[in-house]
Amino acid sequence: MTSARAYFDWNATAPLRAQAREAMLDALGPAGNASSVHAEGRAARALIEQARREVAELVGAEPAQVVFTSGATEANMLALTPAIEADGRRLVGDVLLVSAIEHPSVRAGGRFHKVEELPVTGDGIVDLQRLAQRLAQADRPLVSVMLANNETGVVQPLREVARLVHAAGGLLHVDAAQGPGRIDCDINALGADLLTISGHKFGGPQGTGALVRHPDIHIADQLLKGGGQERGQRAGTEAVASIAGFGAATRVVRQSREAEAKYMESLLNLLETGLRHLTPGAIIFGRSAPRLPNTTLVALPGLKAETAIIMFDLNGIAVSSGSACSSGKVQASHVLVAMGHTRYAKSAIRISLGHETTENDVKKLLNAWLKVTSPLSKSGSKDPDTGSKNAEQPLRSADVAASAAR
Ligand code: PMP
Repeated sequence: MTSARAYFDWNATAPLRAQAREAMLDALGPAGNASSVHAEGRAARALIEQARREVAELVGAEPAQVVFTSGATEANMLALTPAIEADGRRLVGDVLLVSAIEHPSVRAGGRFHKVEELPVTGDGIVDLQRLAQRLAQADRPLVSVMLANNETGVVQPLREVARLVHAAGGLLHVDAAQGPGRIDCDINALGADLLTISGHKFGGPQGTGALVRHPDIHIADQLLKGGGQERGQRAGTEAVASIAGFGAATRVVRQSREAEAKYMESLLNLLETGLRHLTPGAIIFGRSAPRLPNTTLVALPGLKAETAIIMFDLNGIAVSSGSACSSGKVQASHVLVAMGHTRYAKSAIRISLGHETTENDVKKLLNAWLKVTSPLSKSGSKDPDTGSKNAEQPLRSADVAASAAR
């Protein structure tokens, strides 16, 4: 980031990539409805189809499998329906199984009346044994398990999930909103029948996303009915400029993901080493599970997310709480509750970085962490649940520099 502020909320939204901005500006000028047959319409259509090819390539699919939506929320809503068909035949029953750590747009259940939640382990990984047990009694369920959790960054064992779901005659939907630009999102490698992505999490514009379907699958009750756009899967005139920007961002991350992921991982290591050095009592959730290279969810006994976020902000740093934050009030994180960490459900801080984050930003954050947490260590903070005092070490400014240098 070029500003004096340091932005650590890339999982909420990432800055627009220069290539996406350029593609959007180019597309904003000319008129043309992509459904029109004249030259202007065909030009708009060409931009959309170019973007469709880019998105398809990112997830190892054919362009015809891609349905553009207004984001991951809409893609999830579109996917979660009992009316999933192949050759006019219904493929799923009336039960939707979702992991307990899914994004609210999945937990809401789409158009299913029966939604059941699957438990996760203390590390935030879907409990495969419980999944297998539930699948043994289910009639062709639709199962929705995310690729990586937006709060903890924990990556789910999707190959294994897909094997179990398919063996039981079900279908698998994967919300991969946090994946592109960070880890591989190949629909076939993941074993997904339906895959959701979001443009603004990796440098595309906000308000863009896609649902990628297995080539044989058709959604028989669309969310948006009307014109025949998007092969009848999503009516409404396509947002050409936004889709062009989405496609451009996709092309960039396809080419730069490996290098960017390595870079982010090295910064994340620096950050986590620093946090643990400065506050040995800090808990990093899902630490022993496979995680995204850019996400840390951290808590410290006695720390309140609400106040910590404001203090970080006053120190020029943007972080978020692990949980949903509405009207400035931090709600308990359903993810931490599901992981059995209820006592920290209102105190965890999510730090998510990106390819523009610098080592200096990390040092700045560690300095702020020292300021935010030092009152706790001075007073001998109380654990919010037990009321017992925590034996934390007093913090010294010199520690920040030392830990940041590792
Ligand atoms: N799923 C996950 C895992 C997410 O992190 C988000 C964004 N927080 C969404 C869905 C919703 O994405 P969008 O903003 O594109 O609707």
